[in-house]
Amino acid sequence: SSTESKHILELTERFGAHNYKPLPIVIHKAERIWVEDADGKRYMDMLSAYSALNQGHRHPRIIDALKRQADLVTLTSRAFHSDKLGPFYEKLAQVTNKDKVLPMNTGAEAVETAVKAARRWAYDIKKVPDNQAEIIVSAGNFHGRTVTAVAMSSHPEYQRGFGPLTPGFKVVPYGDITALKEAITPNTCAFITEPIQGEAGIIIPPAGFLKEAADLCRANQVLFIADEVQTGFGRTGKMFACEWDGVEPDVYILGKALGGGVFPVSAVAANHEILDVFEPGSHGSTFGGNPLGAAVAIASMDVIIEEKLADRSLELGQYFMEQLQTLQNPHIVQLRGRGLFIGVELDEPARSYCERLMNEGLLCKETHDNVIRFAPPLIIEKHELDDAMNRIRKVFS
Ligand code: PMP
Repeated sequence: SSTESKHILELTERFGAHNYKPLPIVIHKAERIWVEDADGKRYMDMLSAYSALNQGHRHPRIIDALKRQADLVTLTSRAFHSDKLGPFYEKLAQVTNKDKVLPMNTGAEAVETAVKAARRWAYDIKKVPDNQAEIIVSAGNFHGRTVTAVAMSSHPEYQRGFGPLTPGFKVVPYGDITALKEAITPNTCAFITEPIQGEAGIIIPPAGFLKEAADLCRANQVLFIADEVQTGFGRTGKMFACEWDGVEPDVYILGKALGGGVFPVSAVAANHEILDVFEPGSHGSTFGGNPLGAAVAIASMDVIIEEKLADRSLELGQYFMEQLQTLQNPHIVQLRGRGLFIGVELDEPARSYCERLMNEGLLCKETHDNVIRFAPPLIIEKHELDDAMNRIRKVFS
């Protein structure tokens, strides 16, 4: 009943820290692209938990992997091996075309891992003295919420009152090859960037930028590190968004859809020259690479590959974009996206649109006040996109 929802909302408000501003819906269960609230009302999920649900809610194959593993062993810690870890590494290595994998749990932890790897690599290989390493990042980036991840940010609100922050990051304008070139010094160990910025509002860099940046990095013995936590695993119409520029980064930072929305799994993938800098004891996590996560990640990747979710995203993304372009609303400033990763920039607050869409049974979320992000599960059917468009039209007209 709606009193049920109200009560749950009250509990959450009363006992929970207010570090998020969720829409007032209490989700009770979900399947594929559909979620149901505590009162039995159905909604289409057009956010996919920020791209963690590319395979849709509770994909049967991923749930099956979770259940089977739950009946075997759930946690070993890394003090011992588990029989799922090797196969998980092998699959992720194949998917990324790298020869080493380091598993973590959340995106921010994988970012931390990449930062440590880049610094230690520079120290060992490039002979950058300890404490001198510099890492270049892009303005508008989002890499997570730990002290190091917010230190990388150019957003004052992410940092205010949280200092002292991790030093050693230099911000350059996103997609600006000249600025990147000027920022590189002999102490630069890495350039870390999102190939398409998600939280910034689906910002696509100029064509060729990633390629030029990767070449520039290679020429200067700087690691090119792609944070594909949000863009990876088919979201943008390619397995990884770097492919839009034909680029293979030196290091992938991965998360979200790697766990199929079923379990938190993140990882860093790179070649051994880089990840071998971690000797035993230099990095780790009790839960990183745990049997449940490893089993889920294998199934999650199998689904993406076998159901050709990257191709689906490309095709349906194009169709969806064409439909969105027919919207007649003077407040739309720009539509941008790749695959089913689409931002609608408005000249007024996006929050009220998201609230009205919610009332029409469509869930999405504003980013940076004036952008609506549409990122449905990649298993969505064409007729469901038509259904979504009808709801969107109602709100936008
Ligand atoms: N990197 C990127 C590009 C992200 O979009 C996010 C999450 N939105 C993160 C890192 C952080 O991931 P997590 O929330 O799992 O720590």
